[in-house]
Amino acid sequence: MSNLKDKTIIITGAAMGLGLAAAIECASRGANLALIDFNAESLEKAKASIKEQFPQIKLITTVADVSDESAVKAYVAQTLETFGRIDGFYNNAGIEGRQAPMTEYDIEMFKKVIDINLMGVYYGLRYVIPVMQKQNYGRIVNVASVGGIRGVMNQTAYVASKHAVSGMTKNAALEYARYGINTNAIAPGAILTPMVAEAFVQINPTDPKSAEAEYASSNPSKRLGLPEEVGKVAAFLLSDDCSYINGQTIAIDGGQSNSY
Ligand code: NAD
Repeated sequence: MSNLKDKTIIITGAAMGLGLAAAIECASRGANLALIDFNAESLEKAKASIKEQFPQIKLITTVADVSDESAVKAYVAQTLETFGRIDGFYNNAGIEGRQAPMTEYDIEMFKKVIDINLMGVYYGLRYVIPVMQKQNYGRIVNVASVGGIRGVMNQTAYVASKHAVSGMTKNAALEYARYGINTNAIAPGAILTPMVAEAFVQINPTDPKSAEAEYASSNPSKRLGLPEEVGKVAAFLLSDDCSYINGQTIAIDGGQSNSY
């Protein structure tokens, strides 16, 4: 499939997990990539692996923390300088924080989750949208979570941040659809990435595999999702094929969020 051929796409949190899977999927469809992550070592590995698999695409990497506004401004400027335009933006970097009941949640951790998951996504929108506005074209995918459409036990900060991501997605669609910019969010359920592996360790430090099996058993599909399954939806939403979908938050969770 080549429906992203020669498009320039920025992906944050691209060094591993959902960001890396989306990068591979977009590269396989012909996109040129600007990969952003604050983990320099993993980002370098991701770059080497993608370059080996897809030598024909252009790829730059920037080590940046998405919760640092000036770093976000800089990676957007660098992408524009290198490629001349920004067609797609996968606004993905995020953290889970620690699991604790609401009234016992560590306040500093709460602020950190908000800084990365909410402010990081907002800074990205703030600096990418004006570029897309000038082009009269853009595709944005914000990464929310089922925690952006449902409550999740012991994850107050994460749930607050992801509901905010879903809300900002609606506003971006309202305010910028007229400029040919489609902004949607995805709401993955439990997808097997390093972040989710760490969550199962928090739930059951002595036997994280049993926590994983228990979680999967309550899913209608009886399994966790794979990063590639999310990457394919992301690539669709970053392409011209989603030209009349705007402001939506699309669950990718094997059907679990329908459960009552
Ligand atoms: P992950 O921890 O496996 O990977 C996240 C990547 O983002 C890492 O490479 C990390 O270095 C980078 N990152 C984290 N904070 C950053 C920052 N401040 N600046 C720059 N880079 C940063 O996580 P994942 O599971 O791939 O999650 C990616 C996104 O998907 C997150 O927003 C997460 O909330 C969301 N999500 C994941 C799942 C899931 O099941 N894996 C479910 C719902 C939502």
